[in-house]
Amino acid sequence: MDVNLMGKLAKGIATMITVHAGRKAAAHPAPKIAPACFDMAPQAVSPFFTVGYGQAEIVPDGDVTRQKYWIAGYRINNRCEGILDLMAAHAIWLDDRSGKGGIVLVSVDCVGLLRKDVEQIKAGLSGFMQRTGCRCVHIMSTHTHAGIDTMGMWGPLPKTGRNPSFMKRLAESVWSSVEQAYQTRREGELYWGKKAVPGVQKDSRLPEVFCDELTRVRFVPRDGGHEIYLLNFAAHPESMGSQNSLVSADFPYHLAREIKARTGADTIYFSGAIGGLIAMKPLAEDNLTSTRIAGEKLADAACSIEREIRLEPRISQIRQEFYVDADNYVLLAAAKVGIIQADACATGQGALNVSLKTELTYLEIGSLKILLIPGEIYPELVYGGYLSAKESAEGAPASRNPAPLREIAGDAELVVFGLANDEIGYIVTPNDFCLNEKMPYLDKATDRLGRRHYEETNSLGPNTATRIAQVFAHMMETVRSAKSRVAAPEGAACGAGEADGSAMGRIKS
Ligand SMILES: [Zn+2]
Repeated sequence: MDVNLMGKLAKGIATMITVHAGRKAAAHPAPKIAPACFDMAPQAVSPFFTVGYGQAEIVPDGDVTRQKYWIAGYRINNRCEGILDLMAAHAIWLDDRSGKGGIVLVSVDCVGLLRKDVEQIKAGLSGFMQRTGCRCVHIMSTHTHAGIDTMGMWGPLPKTGRNPSFMKRLAESVWSSVEQAYQTRREGELYWGKKAVPGVQKDSRLPEVFCDELTRVRFVPRDGGHEIYLLNFAAHPESMGSQNSLVSADFPYHLAREIKARTGADTIYFSGAIGGLIAMKPLAEDNLTSTRIAGEKLADAACSIEREIRLEPRISQIRQEFYVDADNYVLLAAAKVGIIQADACATGQGALNVSLKTELTYLEIGSLKILLIPGEIYPELVYGGYLSAKESAEGAPASRNPAPLREIAGDAELVVFGLANDEIGYIVTPNDFCLNEKMPYLDKATDRLGRRHYEETNSLGPNTATRIAQVFAHMMETVRSAKSRVAAPEGAACGAGEADGSAMGRIKS
């Protein structure tokens, strides 16, 4: 189709969405979201944790080569031609024995899970929650680019790439891994350490900022049995490359396998700040060898961490839902026709009067602080190091950007888990956000310095990063005030409520 015609059509769709959502927001605005409480464990009650691990492979129905399964992450219509290693759900049960109940962190080998799917999977765990007294379950995706499509964007468009029977298998695997993590729980201690793994990552977009540290939380059971490694590193699991049509969990598979072989420990892996765009360098000529070496290099680091901090058995958390502007009409249109699963909320906010509901969770395990972020965040938004006005896409100053999340947390060691409980795509740095003028969100832009801006097409819009920083700042206020009132009977505190209005609600009513 002619570019101008496409542009006009796109503009027409965006206008239709804006008008319709504007009317709806005026008549029936999306409900406000209350500020969350900080569920705090002020003191350790037990000298040890209870921790369990579960893992369940996601086995597709039938012969994968005869069914309609699509490999997700790179190109559309990439039909699955076989299996190298099966995608799996991994779960870790963590209980500080305070009586508040355990929490479960899940990691799924897949390109991403949208909130709607996450909520459905969690709904299937309601019996488990009641029976075990579980406080909460958080579901993260590793973002493998060699997995079967779980979002719908990589099929034979305009048909969805999401296969319902596979999604059912995926949910069952999550449930089974969670149950197994609970059933295999043992008493023991947690140790937190990290190690830089220099020279293995590449950053395809300026500024060259990323975290090269592999973080490990190591569970040492009192029964002397095998350990559990909880690992976090920042790189797209896409070492198998764009031409691959075989199912694989990519380098995290080799990482876990290597650790098991060397130490007997089970591994659960979480991706960090991988936006803008952090991946592993090619480490060999062929992609399979490169993927294996990537896993082995990370295993070398994971198995040689020396300095560790013992974590006190104290788990606190605050989980905040919020609305984020959904300016990307292409994604909204994809949701409308069922390519992806998302519910747009008419909030009267953003360029189109439409928002998506998503969430952030801030977690403290002893002295370790973790932020669960619902997408692929640009590392500079976490660690700082923004482009200057001279260097940015259209000359916007760094002051357009929010304070980096580590600064907001007041913790130089804040650890980030991306694609957490949602996948809202790239969370782009505001002063370097650049759209194609004729076909915004449909085609990539080229900025005044000749740099290409592809990631914006897979983002919700220019306001996402600022919104996340605002919500996180509000959550940290709640955390600080709860800590300062540590003697309060419930040991929990809620946010400033709608008096503030800036962080959670922001809904015209
Ligand atoms: Zn990505």
